Amino acid sequence: MSLTLYNKKRKFEQTPEPKGTKQKKSSGLRFVVQKHDASHLHYDFRLEMEGVMKSWAVPKGPSMDPSIKRLAMPTEDHPISYNTFEGSIPEGNYGAGDVIVWDKGIYHSENTDERDESEKEFLRGLKSGKFKFIIEGEKLKGLFSLFRLGDQKGWMLVKGKDNYATSDDVTADPRSVLSGRMLIGRKEDTTKYKEKISKLKK
Ligand code: MN
Repeated sequence: MSLTLYNKKRKFEQTPEPKGTKQKKSSGLRFVVQKHDASHLHYDFRLEMEGVMKSWAVPKGPSMDPSIKRLAMPTEDHPISYNTFEGSIPEGNYGAGDVIVWDKGIYHSENTDERDESEKEFLRGLKSGKFKFIIEGEKLKGLFSLFRLGDQKGWMLVKGKDNYATSDDVTADPRSVLSGRMLIGRKEDTTKYKEKISKLKK
């Protein structure tokens, strides 16, 4: 696990993103989902392992419906300090565009909520290309799994069957869980969110 690639891709005198350094462990393994309005809108799904955030870009975002599989393309490891990053990456820089923290929390094994045991299991799963985990986020909750597609580069993110499973669109809430703001200049997010609120009021 290394942040060399992360640091190499960025010009820190130009981007407000944090420099990549490894951080100490906390009591729980952290997870974060950042919504990123880059050349193609996507959700960056990140799971803490061995002091960095293993990262996948999920173009359509996560789903809470177990019958829906979402493509998750691996991207470079990110520093844990990136978990609180929100802001605009300037034009001409890697990943130029606005970023918000769409969800955050901790995650652990379905067999144990013990941190180190969970991490060991996930590191094995990362190698073998399949692992399941329980997410305790503000929007995402319950069992999920990530698995690699055959011998290809892509992975799939899919909700497991449990009481949190629902066909409701979890991405209909476009707000940041940190600041409450939405991505700048994405009108459809505002429209979608207003529709969701008016439905709830009925
Ligand atoms: Mn991204």
